[in-house]
Amino acid sequence: MIERGRVAVVTGGSRGIGRAIAFRLAAEGANVAICYRSDDAAAEETARAIRDAEDLQCELFKGDVASPEDVKALFNGVHEMFGRVDILVNNAGTTRDNIMLRMKEQDFDEVLRTNLKGTYLCTQAALRPMVRARWGRIVNISSVVGLVGNAGQANYAASKAGVIGFTKSVAREVAQRGITANVVAPGYVETELTGKLPDKVKDQIRQQVPTGRFAEAEEVADAVAFLAGEAAGYITGQTIAIDGGMTMQ
Ligand code: NDP
Repeated sequence: MIERGRVAVVTGGSRGIGRAIAFRLAAEGANVAICYRSDDAAAEETARAIRDAEDLQCELFKGDVASPEDVKALFNGVHEMFGRVDILVNNAGTTRDNIMLRMKEQDFDEVLRTNLKGTYLCTQAALRPMVRARWGRIVNISSVVGLVGNAGQANYAASKAGVIGFTKSVAREVAQRGITANVVAPGYVETELTGKLPDKVKDQIRQQVPTGRFAEAEEVADAVAFLAGEAAGYITGQTIAIDGGMTMQ
């Protein structure tokens, strides 16, 4: 459970998995600040739905997680609005897939910039109030691709593996200050993106998953909510794969 009134920042919370996370944290009693980059309509729809469902605040902040200026504005805004940051979910992410021989430098840079630098900037900004409060929960969204790699996604795999090493290091730095940092690594999740895959490809993917199905975004959100809650204070530096058993060893 999350103590009522805690403040959660969810990057990329306007749609997809981030939207499910924002909903879940609000349902647990957190006020939520959602950061998104471009899709105003999706963000407004998410915020409206959360406000309608829960008697809590949900505020929107538009900006790029990889821009130091935008991240500063985001956390200044959250401070003005709520006066605290208790939970940070670094969920904003992007892909620019191609095989290594064809991958363009800008596609490598853009994926590392959003997925890894964005996580660094938001973590650093959130840690200051968390250290002052001697309480905090950071949950970073990686991917099973960061654990086992994927042909055509070397940039994405590097960024998501980077998130895991980054999280472990931060977890060690702040472990004695009441702050935890963990990773959730989803496998294939039912989202707009995976919904567009041809049925044949979806069937091939299902065959690789011991549970024989994709995850629902809500199942990822459940794990995030647990790690963000009061009960998870002794769990830090861990990576939890929500992947139907794909990467079990
Ligand atoms: P979506 O593409 O559905 O949503 C991405 C979200 O991130 C949107 O809210 C988008 O805002 C925001 N965003 C993207 N780039 C930036 C940026 N530079 N600054 C601020 N916000 C940004 O993603 P998913 O829900 O599919 O994925 C969420 C996370 O889960 C990602 O980190 C992804 O790598 C990871 N993941 C997803 C899996 C899947 O199967 N879908 C599997 C494993 C991991 P806007 O729409 O306004 O641009």
